[in-house]
Amino acid sequence: PDETLRPERLPEDDGPALRPQTLDAFTGQAEARANLKVFIESARMRGKAMDHALFHGPPGLGKTTLAQIVARELGVNFRMTSGPVLARAGDLAAILTNLEARDVLFIDEIHRLNPVVEEILYPALEDFELDLVIGEGPAARTVRIELQPFTLVGATTRLGLLTTPLRDRFGIPVRLDFYNVDELTEIVARGARLLGIPAEADGVREIATRARGTPRIAGRLLRRVVDFALVEGDGRLTRGLADAALTRLGVDALGLDGADRRYLNLIARHYQGGPVGIETLSAALSESRDALEEVIEPYLLQQGLIQRTPRGRMLAPRAWSHLGMAPPQTGGQ
Ligand code: ADP
Repeated sequence: PDETLRPERLPEDDGPALRPQTLDAFTGQAEARANLKVFIESARMRGKAMDHALFHGPPGLGKTTLAQIVARELGVNFRMTSGPVLARAGDLAAILTNLEARDVLFIDEIHRLNPVVEEILYPALEDFELDLVIGEGPAARTVRIELQPFTLVGATTRLGLLTTPLRDRFGIPVRLDFYNVDELTEIVARGARLLGIPAEADGVREIATRARGTPRIAGRLLRRVVDFALVEGDGRLTRGLADAALTRLGVDALGLDGADRRYLNLIARHYQGGPVGIETLSAALSESRDALEEVIEPYLLQQGLIQRTPRGRMLAPRAWSHLGMAPPQTGGQ
């Protein structure tokens, strides 16, 4: 059950039904949206490819959705791939040479590009040229291929892992933040309408409050609550029903799930609130450091439940009260 609560992509999320299709239908991220609107409009007026854009932020906040919307609003094709999939230079070359003028190429997890592939991406981004080495040894030669001008939209959950030269090639950096409860309420209400489920405002808000600031989780919780509403309720999404269903799914009042609570409990019970180093936490929780840094910690930080210090992670006062525990006495400091 834990997996359904994590913000990583699962097959069921990719049903297009709930994905907003236009910038105006995209809720939240007001600043990113306003800026993108200008850049899209300007590119259209000039008849040029939009400048390359880098979307960064935690998983499930709408990076892919927004990239699709950009392509749609530019009136061009959308091509999608991801860093780990592009193993060899030829894989990227095949995609780039098939782009039509002004197309949007979306590369998810761009921080995981193979360095060899990244190398050939630079001239492609700067001059729309590809330098490919054909053959091996003394017979090897470089051929230059002209590309159609295109827009790269890169997405990453880990801005810090991008190389500086790659980062520098994006004219439009866009940071996506966790959504507030009002924004998520709008997203859940729209989802309920699209799923054709009668929903009370309180019920919608209950899901929004417990969705970890993340539209992907909001959509998933909505589908699970609808299951309970149909099978165990009267088919209506009410507050009581949402609360019971979410509690059974292990989602607490703050929207934390089992993995979040294990993290907080470990620091509270074994390390007296910290500071604890990330490697220690990773080993004790059997979670990869990446998973902790990409998925678990950003929301706990945003909620003011933990703090990052030079000596490691510490629980904030709010975490103690959420766990129903008293912080240890520190001897009158
Ligand atoms: P990311 O690429 O950042 O991991 P996605 O673009 O795949 O996130 O979005 C995850 C899910 O959340 C999708 O199903 C999408 O429909 C939904 N979603 C994301 N942002 C919004 C939004 N602003 N409004 C409504 N739904 C959204």
